[in-house]
Amino acid sequence: MKTVKITLLALLAFVLLVGCAEQKPKNVIYLIGDGMGFGAVSSLLLSEDGETGFEMAPVIGLNETCSANNYVTDSPAGGTALATGTRTCNGFLGVGPDSVQLESILKKAQKMGKKTGIVVNTTLTEATPGAFYAGVTSRKESYKIAEQFTESGVDVAIGAGLSAFINRPDSVDMTAVLIEKGYDVYLDWKSVLNTESKKFVGILDMGDVHRRNKSRNTVASAADGAEVCLAAKLAASDGNMDSTRFSEPTEYLHKACEKALSVLDKDAPNGFFLMIESAIIDGYGHNNDSEGMIEEMKEFDQTLKTLIAYVNKHPNTLLVVTADHETGGTGVTYKSHAINQPDGLQLNFSTKGHTGTVVPVFAYGAGAEKFSGIFQNRELPGIIENLIK
Ligand SMILES: [Zn+2]
Repeated sequence: MKTVKITLLALLAFVLLVGCAEQKPKNVIYLIGDGMGFGAVSSLLLSEDGETGFEMAPVIGLNETCSANNYVTDSPAGGTALATGTRTCNGFLGVGPDSVQLESILKKAQKMGKKTGIVVNTTLTEATPGAFYAGVTSRKESYKIAEQFTESGVDVAIGAGLSAFINRPDSVDMTAVLIEKGYDVYLDWKSVLNTESKKFVGILDMGDVHRRNKSRNTVASAADGAEVCLAAKLAASDGNMDSTRFSEPTEYLHKACEKALSVLDKDAPNGFFLMIESAIIDGYGHNNDSEGMIEEMKEFDQTLKTLIAYVNKHPNTLLVVTADHETGGTGVTYKSHAINQPDGLQLNFSTKGHTGTVVPVFAYGAGAEKFSGIFQNRELPGIIENLIK
C-alpha cells in the first residue's frame, strides 16, 4: 500500500513538473495588427457568423499605447514600445527618447540561440518591422533601415520594398550585401513558396503583399533599377522573372506565415521568434473606409487562425496578438444599424488619424496566462523575455 502511495506521489510530482515545463514557451509568434483597435475587432465579430480567431483566445488583456511624448502614438514609437520595452518619442524608431539604440526582443531571442523571422504585408523597412532590428530618428530614412536590415541576422524575412535596398544615396546594392552574407534573395512569390533555403529574404512587389496595391509591375521592373541588382540578375539567369510568378494577394499573409514557420521550426533546438505585421488595417482606418476595414479584418482572421492551428499542433509555442495603436476612432454607432440590413455593417470614424484608446491583447499557447490584465505597450516584450529566458 505504501509503495502504491509513493508511486502515486511520484506520478503526481512528474505530472506537475511536466505541467510547469509546458508553461515555458520555446517558440514565440508576435502578431501585430497596425491600427487594430476595438472598432476593427468589433467589425469582424459583428460581420462574421462563425467563430473567429479572437474568440478562440483563452487569455485577453488590454494595452495602453501612449508614446513617451504623446497620448497618441505613431507607428515608429508604437512599434518601438512593442519591440524593445521602451516608450520613445513619436517619429523615433528603435531608439530611446535620447536617440540611443535599444535592444529588441527579436535581438534578445537571437542571443538565446533562437532562429528569427519577420513577415509583413508592407515593406520590410516599415516602422513596425523596423522597430525589431533598426535604430533611426526618422522613419523616412528607409535606405538606412534597409542597411540595418542586412545586419539584423534574421533567418527568414518576407515582405516588400525593394527600392530601399537598391535605389540608395550610397549606390550600394543591398541585395548583393545580403547574398554575400549567405542569404538567398527572392524577388518573386513562387520562389519564396518553393524554396528549400534555410536563410532567405523575399522582397516582393507591393502588389504581391496586399490587394490594395492594385498596380502590378513585372518583377523585373518592380522597382527602378531592379534589373541591375544582383538578386534580379540571379533570378533572370534562373528564368524566374516572368509575370506568372505573382502571388494571390488575399492569400499572401497567411501563406507567407506558413512558409516562415516551416523554415523556422526546422533545425531549431532553441526554438524561434517570429514577428508578423498585418499593416494595412491602419490604412483603412486613416481612409475611414468601412468596407475595406471589414474585408481586411476577415483576412487578418485567416492569418490568425493559421497561427492558432500552428500553436495547437506545437503547444510549446506562445502566440501574442495586439496592435501598436488604434486608427480612425473606429466604432459602431446607433444610426441605421438594423441587423440584416442590405448594406450590412457600416463603421463610423471619428478621425482620420490615430487615437490613444487602449487596444486589445489576445494570447494563446504556452505562457499565455501572463497576458491577462491591463498593460502599457512597453511591458509586453519584457513579459515575453521573462517567459523564454
Ligand atoms: Zn497610421
